[in-house]
Amino acid sequence: MREFSHSHSSRSVSQVAAKPAVSAVQADLVRVGPHLRCAIGWQFLILAEIENFSVLRRHLGRCRADMLIIDVAARVSAVLPDARVIVAGRDVVEIAFESEARLALDVAITALEAAFDLPFDIDGEWHGIHVQFGAAAAGAIGERDEVHLIEEAERALIDARSERVAVARDVVLGAASVDRAQLARDLTIAIETEELFLQYQPKVHLRRQEITSVEALVRWKHGTRGLVLPSDFIPIAEESRDIVALTLWTIERSIRDQKTLLEHGHDLRIFINIAGVLLADTRFVRKVCALVQTSGARLGFEITETSVIRDPESAIANLNVFADIGIVIAIDDYGAGLSSLAYLKQLPARELKIDKLFVTQLTSSNRDPLIVRSTIDLAHALEMEVVAEGVETQAAMALLSVMGCDMIQGFLISRPINLDALIHFLADEKHLAIAADARAPFNRLATVWKRG
Ligand code: C2E
Ligand code: MG
Ligand code: MG
Repeated sequence: MREFSHSHSSRSVSQVAAKPAVSAVQADLVRVGPHLRCAIGWQFLILAEIENFSVLRRHLGRCRADMLIIDVAARVSAVLPDARVIVAGRDVVEIAFESEARLALDVAITALEAAFDLPFDIDGEWHGIHVQFGAAAAGAIGERDEVHLIEEAERALIDARSERVAVARDVVLGAASVDRAQLARDLTIAIETEELFLQYQPKVHLRRQEITSVEALVRWKHGTRGLVLPSDFIPIAEESRDIVALTLWTIERSIRDQKTLLEHGHDLRIFINIAGVLLADTRFVRKVCALVQTSGARLGFEITETSVIRDPESAIANLNVFADIGIVIAIDDYGAGLSSLAYLKQLPARELKIDKLFVTQLTSSNRDPLIVRSTIDLAHALEMEVVAEGVETQAAMALLSVMGCDMIQGFLISRPINLDALIHFLADEKHLAIAADARAPFNRLATVWKRG
């Protein structure tokens, strides 16, 4: 896989070729006709999606908005005259072409980006049509590859939407994709059988010295592969839509476990991670409301800001529905993805979780403490409590405490553990020994930070 995004191994399209002009050589790379198809090595598919469609529809009215895609297709054809451009929906066009060189895809995307930087004359008014590009490249052509090409381009578009940068992926045939497809099939079964299980990780309230909530983290005990961690199967579940069943299972299991905890005298809110795709799913929202209202469970949902940016209108509306029935909304991984103060202000969130990226290096980095400190102040100004995740050392806990962080979560307190172990952990009040006197080693630092 090759991505033009902000992840480590990637680079943005604009870094690949100069913007905005397409040189004659570059144009030759792109301009290869369908007649050459059999002899040509690379096949490409770009999905171009109008990002600001709903805004334009509001401005132009439905009828004119539904025609925008024709304007988009026309501009694409002007840039890539030999590509096959198909209108695939009211806000998406498919652009298919071939070339001998893999570089042709980068060149094409760069040229398209430059073309869409220019506004459109729509009935005498100038409007910007913002387009996101998700692309796939396949080195070998065969009927099965076409399916992979479309699937890979769709995945790239999903990434492009959330990362707000053109993303291109290579179709990898063979072991990896077969493996992924197999894992997706296995996961559907795993949700119905007893292969999934939950572990819980407590959050400690520093001032109150108590555990008031835990986070549920899903695990998969695969029949032949052993333990599979969420980072390996959540993205697959999101693609296959199994995420709906998986999350409903997680909620039901958490509600059941919460009752068990209560029977042992522990009244804890359970936080569940909710994938972004679910925030726009009305059926899912209805089912969750029914589950929570009939059980009276005390739940919290952890969502990332990136998941809101994808479809802010529905996400914010549905988060308000959740908040209205008493579900506490927490913003997860704050600082790791795209952050927008505009959305942050609109979200009905009561907790903000600072990503472990900033916390694990807290005492060895110069800049992370400044970022963490200002994030804590920002969250407090927005009347949110702050959770630092990834707290691994006493020193980090002490520093967070003097910075005014409300809660901590991390290996220092406890790794994610099974329900039985959690019940023992709570009964022994193990967190007290660890979290007590959190500020002690940093009395001197405290004065520095408070002055700053
Ligand atoms: P997350 O929600 O940010 O969860 C925190 C992750 O950090 C967990 O990884 C946890 O085990 C790990 N962690 C906790 N404390 C520490 C620490 O002190 N140091 C370090 N280095 N790591 C720590 P895990 O369980 O592998 O989960 C990874 C991600 O998978 C989660 O990130 C969450 O986004 C996702 N996930 C987990 N369960 C679910 C679920 O039921 N549904 C969905 N949609 N996503 C889930
Ligand atoms: Mg989380
Ligand atoms: Mg997190």
